[in-house]
Amino acid sequence: MHDVLPGQTLLWHYAEGVIKEVLSSYGYSEIRTPIVEKTELFKRSIGEVTDIVEKEMYTFDDRNGDSLTLRPEGTAGCLRACLEHGLLHHQTHRLWYYGPMYRHERPQKGRYRQFVQLGVETYGMAGPDIDAELILLMHRLWQKLGVRDKVRLELNTLGTIEERMGYRDVLVAYFQQHKDRLDEDSLRRLNTNPLRILDSKNPEMREIIAQAPELMAHLGEDSLAHFKAITGILEDLGIAYTINTRLVRGLDYYGKTVFEWVTDALGAQGTVCAGGRYDSLIEQLGGKANFAVGFAMGMERLLALLELRDNIPLMKTVDAYLIRVGDKAQRAGMRLAETLRDELPGLKLEISVDGGSFKSQFKKADKSGADFAIILGDDEVESGLIGIKNLRQDQAQQNLPVAEVINLLRTRIE
Ligand code: ATP
Ligand code: MG
Repeated sequence: MHDVLPGQTLLWHYAEGVIKEVLSSYGYSEIRTPIVEKTELFKRSIGEVTDIVEKEMYTFDDRNGDSLTLRPEGTAGCLRACLEHGLLHHQTHRLWYYGPMYRHERPQKGRYRQFVQLGVETYGMAGPDIDAELILLMHRLWQKLGVRDKVRLELNTLGTIEERMGYRDVLVAYFQQHKDRLDEDSLRRLNTNPLRILDSKNPEMREIIAQAPELMAHLGEDSLAHFKAITGILEDLGIAYTINTRLVRGLDYYGKTVFEWVTDALGAQGTVCAGGRYDSLIEQLGGKANFAVGFAMGMERLLALLELRDNIPLMKTVDAYLIRVGDKAQRAGMRLAETLRDELPGLKLEISVDGGSFKSQFKKADKSGADFAIILGDDEVESGLIGIKNLRQDQAQQNLPVAEVINLLRTRIE
């Protein structure tokens, strides 16, 4: 689990601001759910024979002896909340959530035990337009964040449960023939969850997986038409994609559409955003048959992409730094700072504390990153004029009445 230090939070704020802007431009609303849920919820939704449930969950008994789990992802909790509050009854919803998720994974670059996801979930829409909308939304987000050239879209369709059952037999027969080449995990999954073998990250399995029969050949007309409609929309809008028939995703609840936004820029941790359709999960969790499609994006991986940009967008923490020297100036400065904050709500103003000479306070002003120093000595208090100096341009200090200082700062921060 990692700390995000003040220097890094600026970039987080930038990304979060852009994300919220894009989400609201598509009419999405935020939902907030607890960080812990009953363990059973994740077992039932993500699937017993998945990496997450088998080896990655932080599970504990609370004081009542109930088994709880720190959420490893947000889809299950989001859907649980919507079912519990009757939100899926003859309604459609476009929702997002944002927050920490927990998985006991082997830590490495881009893989943490606490990480932050943006999740987007939609309910009540059979698609394929809504499946496509989620892709368009992410496409827009990448563009706004200046990382569109670093990610590409991979798409697949998993068809319906019945279609996958037919394929499952063919797949098991194929892997049985090559049993000697399967790793330990895959051997185990051969009987429990053979599709999951296609999701293996073991490079030694790559070749045998590449030659496996394809699910696409086992899909019915409806599934194929749904998929074709999505790719049609993407083509209309000029959004490039590749079909990756091995893309199955590591969670059991997906059916029909699955997609990933992947990058080559971050080494092994190549998936930045992933999702798909999961209609059947609603009934599985006790709801009436309905429609659901969503995705999750890993914020740490997004931040790593942002750091690769040529010009990293950094927001300032301080616009102006107030220097106060002398007893009268100390008191007058406190009042002046509050007046400036009243008049200029957008101004980021830092005030010097604990005194010091003009020289040492100017050094602090420079270090703060502020563009302006506002200078108050006892002379300035006497004269009623306030010193202001541009720290980033070679200009002399000016002494101005408060109203003019406010006007000058106003033109510079807006
Ligand atoms: P991976 O293939 O990298 O293990 P996953 O298939 O387990 O990812 P999902 O459960 O679909 O990932 O989560 C969606 C996104 O959340 C991922 O694409 C990734 O950006 C992020 N993510 C998942 N696990 C971690 C982690 N341990 N640390 C940081 N980010 C993560
Ligand atoms: Mg994983």
